[in-house]
Amino acid sequence: MPELPQGAAQVPEEVQSNVLLTTVDFIYNLGRSFSVWPMTFGLACCAIEFIVTGTARYDMSRFGMEVARPSPRQCDLLIVSGTVTKKMVVPIVRLYNQMAEPRYVVSMGACATGGGPFKEGYNVVSGIDKYLPVDVYVPGCPPTPEALLHGFISLQKKIRTQSIRTVPWYRKEYSSAVPIPVLGPDIFSSAPQDLTRVREVNMERLMATRAAGTLSITTLNHQGKDEVVTIRNNGLAQEMSGWRLFSGQGEQSYHFPAGFVLMPDAEVRIHSGPEAKSEGLSDQLWTNHYIWRNEGDSASLSDADGNVVSTFSYEGAKS
Ligand code: SF4
Repeated sequence: MPELPQGAAQVPEEVQSNVLLTTVDFIYNLGRSFSVWPMTFGLACCAIEFIVTGTARYDMSRFGMEVARPSPRQCDLLIVSGTVTKKMVVPIVRLYNQMAEPRYVVSMGACATGGGPFKEGYNVVSGIDKYLPVDVYVPGCPPTPEALLHGFISLQKKIRTQSIRTVPWYRKEYSSAVPIPVLGPDIFSSAPQDLTRVREVNMERLMATRAAGTLSITTLNHQGKDEVVTIRNNGLAQEMSGWRLFSGQGEQSYHFPAGFVLMPDAEVRIHSGPEAKSEGLSDQLWTNHYIWRNEGDSASLSDADGNVVSTFSYEGAKS
């Protein structure tokens, strides 16, 4: 029998095959992703497809989503199913604000996503995402029940990538309330601070969904006299406070500035070397000294918890 670590208790043999070790995030996300309660709410023809999705032929219950509630206080999923008129966007946003966190929004169909056949009509808004942070878009006019089910599965996948350590709704200072538009001129041209608020809430939600392993060091080479590391984000937006980039020797590290966010499909370049402080350089700056000198040196990137997420070897000696 293997020796137990000091202080560890022996698990009785009869329960050994019944013990499952997993992470809090896995259990938390499993529970949430299979108990998403949609609001009983529909706007136009797309709503008929939403209703059909609840029938026995398609059976939303398989995904734990059949408990459609008539009160926003008891829901965590708003399915915007149909044409959003300038008159209706007001109560839609009010309903969203009345839902409890964590809450999600599915934009169902061409109308909800961009105005659909009525785009730029005098009475239709050109996309609910101008007023609410949308988590999943379901294309189609109308989307079939199968397409909506695919949207549900995509939402479940998104929920499963969230971490209890980073989701914003457990923070005291967090509020995801968005401004309620006013029927009239505001709907035609929303006040800039209101649009900014919707974008802010969207960004907080994106940052809460931290897909692991999506950041990587893609190049490590020279530019003039400088050494340049390029980091690419192939996933969702990543807040990089606390992240560090280590040099080949390991003793020196670069700290990302507080609040620095690397957007999806974006790159950041980090310079070190004598020209690093020259004017006009828009990249991140590390130091005036060389960090990588010798073939075989490598760079490593670690997250806020100290886990190394990417390493990269230096391409060769400086010419
Ligand atoms: S997207 Fe098509 S089916 Fe859905 S509400 Fe608009 S017009 Fe109707």
